[in-house]
Amino acid sequence: MKIIGLTGGIGSGKTTVSKVFASLGVPVFNADNEAKELYKDPEVIRKTMEILQTNDITDFHGKVVRSKIAAVIFTDPLKRIALNNLIHPLVKKRFAEWMGTYEFSYCIRETAILIESEAYKDCDKIIVVSCPMNVRVERVMQRDGTSKTEVEKRILAQMKDEERIQYADFVIVNDRSEADLYEPVLEIHQQLL
Ligand code: ATP
Repeated sequence: MKIIGLTGGIGSGKTTVSKVFASLGVPVFNADNEAKELYKDPEVIRKTMEILQTNDITDFHGKVVRSKIAAVIFTDPLKRIALNNLIHPLVKKRFAEWMGTYEFSYCIRETAILIESEAYKDCDKIIVVSCPMNVRVERVMQRDGTSKTEVEKRILAQMKDEERIQYADFVIVNDRSEADLYEPVLEIHQQLL
């Protein structure tokens, strides 16, 4: 089964595009959700605390609060690298297990950090979802109920679209309606089959 990496910045529409592929019967693996799932494992929580050198990463129920982790790694690149070295191989293992359960000519591996995590190296082709900054900001503000400043800060902390697109075999520009995504997705789907 071919691996097609699907990436894009915050609010570009990765998950929305993935859903269109899924509606065509394509298996979709959401690596970011899998990483979140990993943080339910007590051993992962323990190792994360060790790497970040803090016990303050959970709420009162012992559930990991991702914004607490983000706050530490945002200001400490060495801790971010060490944490990635823990999480990325675990996600990779889950992906390999997941792939074994499907039979299709290709699957989609969706993640915001396909390039940064170097997962793109395992992909046969790469799709980048791109969208103008102002549209992304509006959509994320609506989706998450966050402020304009907060969304812009998160977008600026990520890789720029222009840089991401250099790795792309296909670019989907998501600046129109959701219905407008079917045509480009179908075109890519037919090429990949
Ligand atoms: P993140 O990286 O933050 O998880 P994402 O790249 O997966 O985001 P989505 O969650 O797919 O992006 O889209 C962000 C928001 O914009 C969602 O609320 C989604 O419903 C909406 N959206 C995406 N594409 C469109 C579109 N073409 N028209 C209208 N709304 C859209």
